[in-house]
Amino acid sequence: MLYIRKSPPSKEAADNISRVKTERKYLLDRQDPQAARRAFDSLDKSKIRKSLIREQHGLCGYCMRRIGDAGSTTIEHRAPVDKNLDRVLDYENMIGVCDGGRTADKEDWPEGRHILCCDASKGDREITIDPYDKNHMDKIRYSEKGRIYTYPEDKVLERDINDVLHLNGLDGLDTSTGLLRARREAYRSYVRGMRRQGGKVSRAYIEGRIKAIESQEIYPAFAGVILFFLKRKLRELTQKEERQAYKSKIEFEEQLREKIRGEEIPPSPCGEAEGV
Ligand SMILES: [Zn+2]
Repeated sequence: MLYIRKSPPSKEAADNISRVKTERKYLLDRQDPQAARRAFDSLDKSKIRKSLIREQHGLCGYCMRRIGDAGSTTIEHRAPVDKNLDRVLDYENMIGVCDGGRTADKEDWPEGRHILCCDASKGDREITIDPYDKNHMDKIRYSEKGRIYTYPEDKVLERDINDVLHLNGLDGLDTSTGLLRARREAYRSYVRGMRRQGGKVSRAYIEGRIKAIESQEIYPAFAGVILFFLKRKLRELTQKEERQAYKSKIEFEEQLREKIRGEEIPPSPCGEAEGV
């Protein structure tokens, strides 16, 4: 999961939403979930999808699989429609997500189980975790084995990650979309990049790789995993540099003190009689 900087909708998406709000007002006024959904279904979804995909850099807002401007990208309501009728056409409440494995080939199901993720497993449940909330996203961590977790541990967010969105699979099995496997592979590609540096990973190399990803309109799938490990490495390098700078400063001060001591004139033996 990656922080998504929520932006205003594209002009064509905004125009479409406002037209539907006017033309389907009679449906929205009914305060009925089915009527609200009919109003939502009369949106030009491709315009909304395009706008969401742009601000999400082409990744599912929950699992970071690649999503495209096609029917397989679902426009998900983060706050479920049934309990938030007034937010059915609220762009702020819309997030582009993958199909969650609904169309995954049966041979890809782990041990024959169809384990869905993202909106496909969430359904109309309410969640706390919010990719639009930077504080939430700053807690997201990845293990080398491909697991997503929070640090410091946040039980509420972990419940959403594990029990609602199934981002770590279910019952020890991966999802039908192979999320754990894909995150492990993203970690391995990070390691391969590091190894190519021959044990001399420089700050410039890491910053360059981060920039190369973050400057793209469309991120590679699971970019959040690689960015997480790159940024962690950058923090480690910074700490190492700070420790070295501190050590050099102490050594310099010690040398300076010794130099001053060496230059000091010994005190004169005043008050001592010399055979007067
Ligand atoms: Zn997804």
